Amino acid sequence: MKKKQFKTESKKLLDMMINSIYTHKEIFLRELISNASDAIDKLYFRSLTDSSVTLTKGDYAIWLEADKAARTLTISDNGCGMTQEELENNLGTIAKSGSFEFKRDNESAEDVDVIGQFGVGFYSAFMVADKITVYSKPFGTECAYKWESEGADGYTIDVCDKESFGTKIVLYIKPDTEDEKYSEFLEEYRLRALVKKYSDYIRYPIKMEITREEPKEEGSSEYITKTHTETLNSMVPIWKRAKGEVSDDEYNAFYSEKYYDYEAPARVITQKSEGLTSFEALLFIPKHAPYNYYTKDYEKGLELYSSGVMITERCQDLLPDYFGFVKGLVDSQDLSLNISREMLQHDRQLRAIAKAIEKKIKSELESMRDGDREAYEAFFDAFGIQLKFGAYSDFGMHKDTLCDLLMFKTSKEGKYATLKEYTERVPEGQKVIYYASGESAEKIAMLPQVDAALSRGLEVLYLTDDVDEFTLRAIGKYGDFEFKNVTAEQVDLADGEAKAKAEEMTKANEEMLGFIKEKIGKVASVKFSANLTKYPVCLSSEGELSVEMEKVLRKMPNQDGAPSASVVMEINHNHPIAERLISLYFSDKDKLSEYAKVLYSIASLINGVSVENPAEFAELVAKLLV
Ligand code: ADP
Repeated sequence: MKKKQFKTESKKLLDMMINSIYTHKEIFLRELISNASDAIDKLYFRSLTDSSVTLTKGDYAIWLEADKAARTLTISDNGCGMTQEELENNLGTIAKSGSFEFKRDNESAEDVDVIGQFGVGFYSAFMVADKITVYSKPFGTECAYKWESEGADGYTIDVCDKESFGTKIVLYIKPDTEDEKYSEFLEEYRLRALVKKYSDYIRYPIKMEITREEPKEEGSSEYITKTHTETLNSMVPIWKRAKGEVSDDEYNAFYSEKYYDYEAPARVITQKSEGLTSFEALLFIPKHAPYNYYTKDYEKGLELYSSGVMITERCQDLLPDYFGFVKGLVDSQDLSLNISREMLQHDRQLRAIAKAIEKKIKSELESMRDGDREAYEAFFDAFGIQLKFGAYSDFGMHKDTLCDLLMFKTSKEGKYATLKEYTERVPEGQKVIYYASGESAEKIAMLPQVDAALSRGLEVLYLTDDVDEFTLRAIGKYGDFEFKNVTAEQVDLADGEAKAKAEEMTKANEEMLGFIKEKIGKVASVKFSANLTKYPVCLSSEGELSVEMEKVLRKMPNQDGAPSASVVMEINHNHPIAERLISLYFSDKDKLSEYAKVLYSIASLINGVSVENPAEFAELVAKLLV
C-alpha cells in the first residue's frame, strides 16, 4: 500500500517528539498500557449488553514481551481492536490531545517541551522507537490490519494475518547513543519498575513471561531454565478499597514502602469526594520529620492519579506549604491523562481538590488535638514549627486557618497549651495573653519579669522557637485577647498604687536616672518600676522589636543593618538598692557610676545577654566586695 502522510499538525508534533530531549521518555509505556486498558474497557462494557462477547472479566489481559536480539518491545491486548478506518483516523492524527489549541494561543511555544507538557498518547512511543508496527483485529471480524510507520515521513496500512482479536504494538527500539540507553526498555527489571511506577493500578493484569535459571526441583543443585507468566501490577489500588476492608497493617505497609519511612504514620486519612470534581485521596501524617524536612531540598507534594494511572509523582499545588509534611496521593477520574503539567497548575479542578484536601487535613489535625492529645503533641514536636511559620508567612494570611492548631509551652507545669486553652483558664477580666521568649523554658522562667508575673499568679507562654514571637505578632489578636511580652517596658503587672509610686519616684529622680543612663551608655532610658518583685533590676524592650526578636534577626545572613531593640533598664522601686542609688547621687557620683555599670551587667546576665566587658565587671564587683 502507498505511503500516506500524517496530517500536517500531527507531523509537526511528531517531529518535535522524535527530536525531543525530554528526559521522561519512559512515559511511553504508561501511554500504551493505558490505551490497551481503555480498549479492553470498551470490549468489556460491550460484553455487558452484547451476548456475542462471551469473555468474562478474568479473560482480559495486557502482555509485554521484550526481545533483546530483535530489539523489539511488544505490547498486546485483547481489547476491542481497530478497523482499518479506525487505524487511519486514530493513528493518523494527533489533534485530540488539546496540544494544538495550546499552540495557537501561544505561538512562541514551538520550541517548548511539548512532550513534557502533554500526554501525547500513542505517538510518545516514537521517543524510544524508530519504527512502530501495529497489528489490530476488531472483535468479531475476520480481517486484521497492519499499520506501520518510521516516524515523520508517513505511515502505511496493509491487510495482515492476526489470529486473535485485539491489538499488538511492536516497537523497534532505537539504538543506544552516548546519552540515551534505549536498551533499558528491553530489560525485565526496568519494565517491571515502570509498570509499578505508572500503571500499578490498571484494572487488568499486565503479564510478562519471565525466564529464569532455577533449581530443577526444590533443594536440587541442578539448574534449568524455567519460564512462567507473572502479573506485574497489583491492579486494585488500596485507596479504591473501602476503608473498613483495609487493615492498619496494610496501610502502614503501603506507606512505608512508598515513602521509605521506617515508622508507621501518625495518622492515615482517607477522603472521598463526589462533587463537581470527584476524587479519592489517601493521605498520611508522618510521625517524624524526614531528615531533610527543614531544608530547601525537601519537596512537598502528593502523587496525582487519573483513574489509577499516575500522572505526576509530586503535584505541589495540592498542598499548602504549611501542610507540606503530608504524604500521599489523589486519584480523580475527572482529570484526563492528557492534561498539561503547566496547565495543571492553573487548573480549576485541581484547585478545588486542593481546597478540599486542606480542609480535611485541618479537621483531622483538630480531631487529633482534641481526641488524642499525646499523639498531637508528638506531631507538634515534629511539625509545629512548620505550622507556626505558616501562620507568620504571607503577611499572616493563613493565621485564621492555623492559629487554633498552634500550641505553646506555658509556665503551667511546662506543658503545651493552645491559645484557646490559655484564654479559657485565665482569671475573669484578663484580656491579655502573656508571653516571654528565650532559649529554653528554664531560662525564661528565670527572667526577672517572668518571675514577677508568676509570683502574681499569671500564666506565661514560653516562646523558645525563633519564629514564635513573629508568629504571635502576625496573629495580632486572638479574639479579644492581646498578646503582651512581659519583658516589654509597657506592660504593667503592678497594681495602680505601686505603679503610681514608681512613676513618682522616676519623676523625682530624673537627673539621677539620666546620670546612670549616661554612664551605662547603651540603654534608651532608666526608670523605677513596680513590675519587679524580687530582682533589683531588669532589662526590657521598648517599642516594636523585642530583645529576642533582635537576636533572631541578627542570626540571619546579611543582617548587619538589622534594626536594634531599644532597651530600658528598670530598677525595682521597692528594692533597697533604689534608696542607695538616690543617696549616692548626692554623696558619691563616682561610686554611683560604678554601681550603674554593675547593675547593668547583672541585668544583662539575668536577661540572658552576655556581659560585654567581663574583666571590668569582675573588677568592679571585687572592689565593691572589699
Ligand atoms: P488518546 O489515547 O489520548 O485518545 P492516542 O494517540 O494514545 O490518544 O490514541 C488514539 C486512539 O487510538 C485512541 O483514542 C484509541 O481509539 C485508539 N487506540 C490506541 N491504542 C489502542 C489499542 N491498543 N486498542 C484499540 N484502540 C487503540
